[in-house]
Amino acid sequence: MSPCEDCHAGCCRSFAVPVSGADIMRIEHGLGLSFWDFVCRWEDPDGRIALNYAPHFFFEDEPESQFVISLMHQKSEYFKETTRCQFLTEGSPDDEHPLGQARCGIYNFRPGACRVFPTKFDPANELAVIHDVPARSRDGHAEVYDLCSRPWEPSDLDPIQPLHNLVVSQYEMQYFRSIAEIWNRKPRAWSVFPDFLRLVYARRVVREEDLKPQLMPDKPVVAELSNDCEDPAVLSFEISSQRSRSA
Ligand code: SF4
Ligand code: SF4
Repeated sequence: MSPCEDCHAGCCRSFAVPVSGADIMRIEHGLGLSFWDFVCRWEDPDGRIALNYAPHFFFEDEPESQFVISLMHQKSEYFKETTRCQFLTEGSPDDEHPLGQARCGIYNFRPGACRVFPTKFDPANELAVIHDVPARSRDGHAEVYDLCSRPWEPSDLDPIQPLHNLVVSQYEMQYFRSIAEIWNRKPRAWSVFPDFLRLVYARRVVREEDLKPQLMPDKPVVAELSNDCEDPAVLSFEISSQRSRSA
């Protein structure tokens, strides 16, 4: 039985969950939610949320701070002094499960960071390695922040799906880091960030004939913020190759 089976989901209570633009689009489209229903920016001065995985974004309304784009938290229904991912469905505590049992309420649409936990790639990107999950990852003494009740074993995991999840998650976060580089050249207000993302992701599929002649077909294509855009409300983009620009 997976350790998650009857767990109170300490992971969904302890961590700020970084999301990629692809995660945001999937949840918006799949659940009919808007960006402002579930996305927030968490200030991350020491990089403990990004953890060399998610990019930092800067915004002109708080220019001194670096942020990670994450899922919103809200107060726990049963443990009032604690918070949890707003998509967590909590069960009431009972004698057998004093911390309750909890489930992801958006399982099929959950972000890549949730899909891969508690695995990461080995240095050669060939094997899924199980993290040494700490007993508790969040400051404070609330027992509900305790993590996995026992160490994970390789036999707890399917031999294929975790690798697929790691590949997709890594690819999407790499793309999101490219987008962060572009945004951070000229940060705009948090209020226009969802419009920026929507425009970038709407341009992610193109016809071959629409590629500029100088682009090599084997180079990744990203949507780049147009340098001559003066009006932050009317963000315009051009399809370009980040590598060919920076070359
Ligand atoms: S804390 Fe560990 S065992 Fe519990 S739901 Fe999260 S990953 Fe699964
Ligand atoms: S999206 Fe689901 S799996 Fe991820 S933190 Fe929230 S409740 Fe947990």
